[in-house]
Amino acid sequence: MSRIFSGIQPSGELHIGNYLGAVQNWVRLQEGRDSTFFCVVDLHALTGNYEVADLRRRRHEMAVSLLAAGLDPERCTLFFQSAVPQHAELAWIFNTVTPLGELERQTQYKDKASRQESVITGLLTYPVLQAADILLYHAVRVPVGEDQVQHLELSREIARRWNARFASDMPYFPEPQPLLTPVRRLMGLDGQAKMSKSLGNTIGLLESREQIWDKLRPAMTDPARQRKTDPGTPEICNIYSMHRAFSAESTVETVAVNCRTAGWGCIECKKVLADSMEGVLLPIRRRAMEIGAQPSYVTDVLEEGATRARTTAQETMRQVYERMGLTD
Ligand code: SF4
Repeated sequence: MSRIFSGIQPSGELHIGNYLGAVQNWVRLQEGRDSTFFCVVDLHALTGNYEVADLRRRRHEMAVSLLAAGLDPERCTLFFQSAVPQHAELAWIFNTVTPLGELERQTQYKDKASRQESVITGLLTYPVLQAADILLYHAVRVPVGEDQVQHLELSREIARRWNARFASDMPYFPEPQPLLTPVRRLMGLDGQAKMSKSLGNTIGLLESREQIWDKLRPAMTDPARQRKTDPGTPEICNIYSMHRAFSAESTVETVAVNCRTAGWGCIECKKVLADSMEGVLLPIRRRAMEIGAQPSYVTDVLEEGATRARTTAQETMRQVYERMGLTD
């Protein structure tokens, strides 16, 4: 069985960038509760600044978003990372075989550390915890974006080093491979930077049609289209990218023609986009409302997922301890 594992930070309600860039793909990949593990990585979230009450809310909102977006507890195991203590346990074990230099070379660490006066150790060892997340379940397929490929290489290196030291006859940990998410990277509504909550340029997955329209109406388009009669270049417009993600192929073609020939104004184009988005997002909003109407549903699903994940994780740690001389 080639198991899948992937994690997402508890950043609150998903925005459409997260949905198109990762979660929509997860929904397609669900193969069964024993073969597909998805995790809200709340231990990783502790490496950033946060308010305690806020983290509690963001964890819950992320779980609701994932279930509303289509993760099905009958076809995958969904859980909070902190509910399975073996993640942190295996991370410590891996700390003992991971060279410091490898961690210091990680691009994400260098980027983040360069912007901080005092760097916490958790930021440096973040990829070790990631390796533990994946290898705890012997996952070999890891859906990731390009930005996580270097961390995954390190997970393979850690698996190799541990195997070489403690399982040289027959490798115990597999070497996980990236399952690159088909790139659907959306720019934010400002058209300047990647869609990101911290930049305030997002559309929430569960926002109402009215809220979405209030954001789409003033959103950045091709600056060449000053007047309705000015022709534009759809490929440089973020609204066109959103059409490609949400509209039918025939609509995308109509948008391109009407943009180039100035057949439509941008507001008209955005109204068509709002309709397409409603077609995709309305069922997700409805599911979120159904979930919200059953107060214990999310807790029950996540607890059940954690119980299943712990069963696998406990067996991994038993084998690891045995091979490392930590049992009698
Ligand atoms: Fe963008 Fe549509 Fe305006 Fe073209 S018509 S610039 S694709 S919003």
